[in-house]
Amino acid sequence: MSKKTPQAIRGTQDIFGADAEAFAFVVETFERVRRLYRFRRVEMPVFEKTEVFARSLGETTDVVSKEMYSFDDRGGESLTLRPEFTAGIARAFLTNGWQQYAPLKVATHGPLFRYERPQKGRYRQFHQIDAEVIGAGEPQADVELLAMADQLLKELGIADVTLHLNTLGDAESREAWRAALIDYFRAVKDQLSEESQERLEKNPLRILDSKDPRDKPFLADAPKIDAFLSEEASAFFAAVTSGLDAAGVKWVRAESLVRGLDYYRHTAFEFIPDEGSASAAALGTQSTVLGGGRYDGLMESLGGAPTPAVGWAAGIERLAMLVGAAEDAKPDDWTVAVIPVGEGVELEAQRIVAAIRSERIPCEYAYRGNMKKRMQKASAAGARYVFILGDEEFAQGVVTVRDMRSGEQAPMQLSWIPQGVLDLLFENTGAEHSGEKLPSLAERLGSPPPRA
Ligand code: ATP
Ligand code: MG
Repeated sequence: MSKKTPQAIRGTQDIFGADAEAFAFVVETFERVRRLYRFRRVEMPVFEKTEVFARSLGETTDVVSKEMYSFDDRGGESLTLRPEFTAGIARAFLTNGWQQYAPLKVATHGPLFRYERPQKGRYRQFHQIDAEVIGAGEPQADVELLAMADQLLKELGIADVTLHLNTLGDAESREAWRAALIDYFRAVKDQLSEESQERLEKNPLRILDSKDPRDKPFLADAPKIDAFLSEEASAFFAAVTSGLDAAGVKWVRAESLVRGLDYYRHTAFEFIPDEGSASAAALGTQSTVLGGGRYDGLMESLGGAPTPAVGWAAGIERLAMLVGAAEDAKPDDWTVAVIPVGEGVELEAQRIVAAIRSERIPCEYAYRGNMKKRMQKASAAGARYVFILGDEEFAQGVVTVRDMRSGEQAPMQLSWIPQGVLDLLFENTGAEHSGEKLPSLAERLGSPPPRA
């Protein structure tokens, strides 16, 4: 009887190839940008006591009521795989006494788990990058976070995604708006979708977010938050928008944008692909790439002192879908490959490979198969130059260099490695920048400069 290979769990992904490169590019860019904005790195547990999420996210949200992966551990305690970062970071802020660092700017990334219906851009294990500012009630904190998100998207090369911005007001404004929404939707309750009917009393803000065609006709005329904003809440929102303008962050007002979670106050936002753009086409119906807002009410729900905070999270897979094509096409001018021809030169080739890599030049060592296979490997690695070392060359103290673009070949002194490899690559990049034409490869390799 043959043994059947177990399949991966539905909604999980094995990320490989161009997708994995794009994923890594998103994470690396995020790490670079978070350092620019001086956010500190944190590593958080993947699971927490269920109450961390149940209390902070509120029992009425989709995440808590339907999407959590919860289980009892062997001690009978209910634990949950994190469906988001914010609640765990807030828990850590309280249990570790991180108040001493407030305002605390932290960033992290990693896997999250939600029991959702898997589809393109929506998984049961997915990954987020996340940034939070805890202990800052100033609108400048909102602006800094949004500027960081905006710069991240630009550095990822994503230009057709726009910040949609709203305010949910302070607790008082939000309560008044909520009551008005309940009145408004109650009058047409029978015509709403089942889901919206269910949400009506518990979480009427979420109805504004509905994509159901039965709800849509009623959304345009629903009461707007602006009519209920306290003077303070209006002033706060004005400070955020003028700060964004000063920082050069483009935004549009989205009056019906709400966040799914109960703890949000004031600023709420999402970055959404522009209609008809390439990013919109790439994402399909899962359109939001980055979302967040101010959650001044969260710490109290976890038993802490009132602590203002603001944050955002973005799906790495969704961002990777937007950068995927661009990243894949980028040639890597800094890769080289070394090919040994014959067993007698393998150790010398190994020495060359180590010397090149120690100069931080990406290097592929093509040691398998016949010469043709080895050249194919070098080419697939995107090598700009290939260094071919045979017995004869080795005996003469040289290696054959092949320029993979022009097809030129010429010998290089072995003693000139690794500096010669660096010089070759630098010369190349320099010439490409200035538009000047380089002398032939043979001339360039013919007379290495005297070693200092
Ligand atoms: P959605 O409306 O798409 O369900 P959400 O409001 O649940 O999003 P957040 O909790 O704000 O999303 O998470 C922030 C980001 O994480 C989203 O904008 C999206 O990019 C990503 N994300 C959320 N859920 C998933 C998922 N199941 N699979 C992949 N990415 C996700
Ligand atoms: Mg969701």
